[in-house]
Amino acid sequence: SRQFTRPLNDLANQFNTLLSAVAGAERVFEILDQPIEQEQAGQPLGSIKGDITFNQVSFSYQDSQTISNISFYAKAGQTIALVGPTGAGKTTIINLLSRFYDPDQGTIMIDSHDITNVSRASLRTKMGFVLQDPFLFSGSIKANIRYGRLEATDQDIVEAAKQANADRFISALPQGYDTELSADGNGISQGQKQLLSIARAILANPDILILDEATSSIDTVTEIKIQSALHRLMDGRTSVVIAHRLNTIQQADHIFVLNEGAIIEDGTHEELLSQHGFYYELYNEHFEERIG
Ligand code: ADP
Repeated sequence: SRQFTRPLNDLANQFNTLLSAVAGAERVFEILDQPIEQEQAGQPLGSIKGDITFNQVSFSYQDSQTISNISFYAKAGQTIALVGPTGAGKTTIINLLSRFYDPDQGTIMIDSHDITNVSRASLRTKMGFVLQDPFLFSGSIKANIRYGRLEATDQDIVEAAKQANADRFISALPQGYDTELSADGNGISQGQKQLLSIARAILANPDILILDEATSSIDTVTEIKIQSALHRLMDGRTSVVIAHRLNTIQQADHIFVLNEGAIIEDGTHEELLSQHGFYYELYNEHFEERIG
């Protein structure tokens, strides 16, 4: 299969690739290792509702089939959760939806547009990413949030931070929004990095949100802030979530359970539990301690 750019899991959240629309092209292509022609090739995607359809999609990175015959539909505004063991193909689905790769077979549609006909640059302006290990660069907190929408005013940034439950911790720092971060986000916690990346996505206001939930444990207070900020961020946009947290899974409109590259079960949390199948087993393995 042809690889166009480094995929999501290598990209350390090369986050809003979003950039494409707003940032200087050089910066985008530095990040994506991508020639301009390739990034811009295809139709620009105009305004969208945000319906997502995978129709019998198969893909291999190398010889063996990574995902097989994947079909699902997410109606605009819905949240769908992808769950399954490590290596099941969840990230691959996201990589295909973001056109880091194109399918070997099948089609992926956004509204009525086959995304292989759509330029990657314009596709990604519609998408926001909140990934496990948020991408921060050396610069102020303000600049890191502004990365979501470069023309945002300081007031827009503070407003987004408030909605992301990040304003309080930022304001408590001696330099506030002007606090300088190093590339690895020194001095702020993993949970606070997540809040910054949520603020950035709120500012970007994408039609489609890609969320790869953190698996690492975060203190309870910050976790509650993250959950409520995510809830706000996901509201009213199509969200595709690689879900690890019970709360997120329970709130999803529809859950797709993956194993070895195939969707083996789907439904709501309650429906899936009542089937006493693979999901039920997964759930018992992973969540027993947390619920108990
Ligand atoms: P998940 O997100 O569910 O953990 P992935 O989609 O990351 O699963 O991986 C699915 C399979 O594809 C795994 O076997 C993984 O090793 C393989 N894989 C993922 N990325 C690549 C890649 N860039 N090249 C080759 N194989 C890959």
